[in-house]
Amino acid sequence: MLSYDVTEHGKPLQARLRETPKPTGTEVVVRITHSGVCHSDVHLWHGYFDLGGGKKAYLKDRGLSPPLTLGHEPLGIVEAVGPEVRGVAIGDKRVVYPWIGCDKCWACDEGLSTLCATPRNVGIAMPGAFATHLLVPDPKYLVDVSGIDDAFAATLACSGVTCYSAIAKAVPQMRAEDSIAVIGCGGLGLLAISMMKGMGFQNIVACDIDDRKLEAARGQGAARTVRSDAPEARKALNEATEGRLAAAVDFVGMAPTFNLAYSVLRKGGTYVLVGLHGGEIALPMPPIAQRSIAIVGSFVGTLGDMNGVVELAKAGKLQAPPINIKAPAEISSILEDLDQHRGIGRTVLDFSRIQETS
Ligand SMILES: [Zn+2]
Ligand SMILES: [Zn+2]
Repeated sequence: MLSYDVTEHGKPLQARLRETPKPTGTEVVVRITHSGVCHSDVHLWHGYFDLGGGKKAYLKDRGLSPPLTLGHEPLGIVEAVGPEVRGVAIGDKRVVYPWIGCDKCWACDEGLSTLCATPRNVGIAMPGAFATHLLVPDPKYLVDVSGIDDAFAATLACSGVTCYSAIAKAVPQMRAEDSIAVIGCGGLGLLAISMMKGMGFQNIVACDIDDRKLEAARGQGAARTVRSDAPEARKALNEATEGRLAAAVDFVGMAPTFNLAYSVLRKGGTYVLVGLHGGEIALPMPPIAQRSIAIVGSFVGTLGDMNGVVELAKAGKLQAPPINIKAPAEISSILEDLDQHRGIGRTVLDFSRIQETS
């Protein structure tokens, strides 16, 4: 098998040939055809997350060091199965749900692997899908995506499930006339807008610092747009939401994006933090109580969320954001572009044309 690996943080990824894994027990080997590239791959490539104030959370402190095979939006064909595998057969096309827990703790027992203290996430703790082959521990993590475009289906594993889970945290606060803001209109934000539309929300306001992304957001169904870096951004967002901003889903996650949403939310509003751009915030505590504001973190999504987003896509209720299909060998420049916020929508690597190599 061939994989494109981080051999040194921040340096170009290296193509490496390895023995293709042989599945035992309940394991499944998937021959990857499509592999989405996510902004969090940029952080993993750099080797840290920015905590603000000059502080960083390093991967190496979590026991993760190169060589690393990233990639957590895998779609492919089942190529080999262990003797205990039931429910999938060689030749089946599946998306791999990557947010796998330890399978032994209370959270995993309840189907909440995203709350597992010792996750085995694909493309982070386990080798990922920037590769021709992927070893999956159990067929329960394989999701049937028949009828959905292959490249778009791959992106549901992170982009899709992350949006679905984040929106689910905002929805309980929503009233019919309320507005919801999507902050950051990269691949996730654009998909979130279409997902909210698909769920029946009308008053969706898109915020970004890039006019091209705001234009794409209108194409996805945003009713209004706000330049979040404008001097009057708070006033503009307040007017666009008519003083009824019930929820903001922040796909950027920096102090300025938090401050924009937090200052405009109506009483009883919910701020959902998804983006990991990083930084720190300091805010007076009493108003959080007095305004009854909920500040909620949301990290990827559960297998239940994955099934939910796949159902929405199969029902035709999701409009795919623009998807750029690229050759796997371009991965380093794709990560550079993501780091510099160039490009619109999502990027998916096409592994289907790469020949078997070992
Ligand atoms: Zn991701
Ligand atoms: Zn667990």
